[in-house]
Amino acid sequence: MVSRTTDDYLKMVTSGCEAVCEPAFWAGFDRSSVAGFYDYFLQLTMHEPKRAERFKLPHYSWLCINPKESEDMVLAQEVLDLIPKFLDRPNVLGIGEIGLNKNTRNEIAILEKHITLAAEHGQLVLVHTPHLEDKLKGTKLIVDLIKAESRLEPGRVIIDHVEEHTVSLALDAGFWAGITLYPESKCTPARAIDIVETCGKEQVWLNCACDWGVSDPLAVPKTALEMRRRGHSAEAIDSLIYQNPVRFLSQCRKFKVGR
Ligand SMILES: [Zn+2]
Repeated sequence: MVSRTTDDYLKMVTSGCEAVCEPAFWAGFDRSSVAGFYDYFLQLTMHEPKRAERFKLPHYSWLCINPKESEDMVLAQEVLDLIPKFLDRPNVLGIGEIGLNKNTRNEIAILEKHITLAAEHGQLVLVHTPHLEDKLKGTKLIVDLIKAESRLEPGRVIIDHVEEHTVSLALDAGFWAGITLYPESKCTPARAIDIVETCGKEQVWLNCACDWGVSDPLAVPKTALEMRRRGHSAEAIDSLIYQNPVRFLSQCRKFKVGR
């Protein structure tokens, strides 16, 4: 939400959103030093929760250096060293969104370090998978790397941005799968529900982005409408849209939403 207006908070809270979970991600530009990440982590863990509180919306965050900026190995190590200082903040849910962007050697090395960090600190993990032609190979690499860390339970890891050809890679390994809704890229509501109708919804959730680019904070409620149009029951919609993310996120004791 750091790149969004307060109007978005208002729209979300009035459409029934109960919490925001904001991953550390690429901000649309490369930060030039570890000091930039220090300030970003303060923003995610101190300043943005206060802004959200004005709209009575609990704000949670995830911490990491995203794969795009982790190509700079020196900077990435400095940021990795910074993360443990913030893990005890009351709104931090875990490590994310880590993963791969172009599946390079440097990205893989920094992903492995994040996986070790999450295992050592008992953190939940949120994983970004690459775009377009890099997605299948990248998702396979990510799944293998995480499976190799025996201290990480697959049920505490969500592989995000899955598509038709990658969703089973995540689910078959026991991970959760995230389907990300965007107006111009990734999944539309109709496509997301096609995937859910095919793969089942036991360990799947939907998310949308509040990005620096074109994105829609109300994409999840719009997808609930798509489910209603197709005749899904109120219980089925509630379990996919609400209960599933609550079930996953409640594995972190700090996460609380109330009805
Ligand atoms: Zn991502």
